[in-house]
Amino acid sequence: MKEYKPERMCIACRRRFPQDRLIRIVKTAEGLVPYEKGVSGRSCYLCGSDECMSAAFKKNLFARSFRTEVPRAQLQELAEKLNMNV
Ligand SMILES: [Zn+2]
Repeated sequence: MKEYKPERMCIACRRRFPQDRLIRIVKTAEGLVPYEKGVSGRSCYLCGSDECMSAAFKKNLFARSFRTEVPRAQLQELAEKLNMNV
């Protein structure tokens, strides 16, 4: 039997990948956080390539994906959690 592998789209390059290969970003009351077990909320996905990671922050694709304002400070916090320089 074929194993069911859910696919999700990277918000930057819009290509589809198996969900377990993507970086999941969850929107919580406190802001955006990289997925951890037990964290629930709306989420979006990034494939993890350098181009996509920087595009997501530069163009604030999170705001578009979540259809809500994502203040600069929240982006900065998320970047720090992902060990990124933006
Ligand atoms: Zn991508």
